[in-house]
Amino acid sequence: MTPQQTAVSQVDHQYRNQGGLWDSVRKAAFIIGSGLFFLVAFRNSLMWHLQSFWGASGDFWQTQWSKLLLLFQGKEASLFFVGTMLVPTGMFWLFNGIFMLADTTGKPSFITRYRIQLDKNNPVDSAHLHHAIKIVLRNQLFYSAPMVFVTYMIMQATGDPISPQLPHFHWVLLELSICGLLEEILFYYSHRLFHHPAIYKHVHKIHHEWTAPVGVVALYAHPLEHVLSNMLPALVGPVLLRSHLSTTCLWFTLALLVTTISHCGYHLPFLPSPEFHDFHHLKFNQCYGVLGVLDRLHGTDEKFRETKAYERHTLLLSMTPLTQSIPDEPKKSQ
Ligand SMILES: [Zn+2]
Ligand SMILES: [Zn+2]
Repeated sequence: MTPQQTAVSQVDHQYRNQGGLWDSVRKAAFIIGSGLFFLVAFRNSLMWHLQSFWGASGDFWQTQWSKLLLLFQGKEASLFFVGTMLVPTGMFWLFNGIFMLADTTGKPSFITRYRIQLDKNNPVDSAHLHHAIKIVLRNQLFYSAPMVFVTYMIMQATGDPISPQLPHFHWVLLELSICGLLEEILFYYSHRLFHHPAIYKHVHKIHHEWTAPVGVVALYAHPLEHVLSNMLPALVGPVLLRSHLSTTCLWFTLALLVTTISHCGYHLPFLPSPEFHDFHHLKFNQCYGVLGVLDRLHGTDEKFRETKAYERHTLLLSMTPLTQSIPDEPKKSQ
């Protein structure tokens, strides 16, 4: 290469690097900008719908809550257990029941046509699935339940999680957002720590046995990981904020449904995109977080952003599976 060619290639390289950075900034600005636009444009009507549900027909929810308090009078610990354990866990198994039906029978095709890794889990290996279910039940029974009990003791000592007055609607939304951010931070760093070569093979490897995950794999983990990476990041928010039981119940249920969707292996219309975490199971060293904010900051989504999965990582607003509208490039024969 002549000196002139070298100089040209250096400039070109520099330009392309700047282009990459500029492209990133532009994309981030676009996402934030369109998010803001959406929020401003739809804020009022969205809030109105949510609020009218929350405060439906005057004091609908408040009345239900008062009735529940009367029913559980003197048994506050049991009510806390129902709200933080039975309801979220029940919803977890209800959703996973539907996904397991699809994984084992291939029906309904309404779900299975949205499979992300087309050649996997069709149908799922039943022995593998049974083992996962057993471990998840063990984690819920022997680790989640005692942790929720300790949480009750702490929250009871520091505040009044079962107060007769339900929190205000906007306050619930704010608390849910803070819980989501705290979880993102604690999950991202604990998850990355579990990928450290010295720890990985002893703990987190179990969760990664599934390179094409299914819904229940969300809680298929070593006990240490279940406690530190699944439970703690979700518990910290309500404890710090001294949340009302109704908010904590809603938060746990949402968190469990979001992680189920992230692992389910189907990119369904009108539901959050599972491409990010599905890619983590496929490649191991990319996409450690939930929301993806910290991955962008630390550059742990760089390879992901060069893939088709990244192009598909959007809210699907049509009925056409993204594997059809954004197909994989045909494999080149060597
Ligand atoms: Zn996972
Ligand atoms: Zn991992």
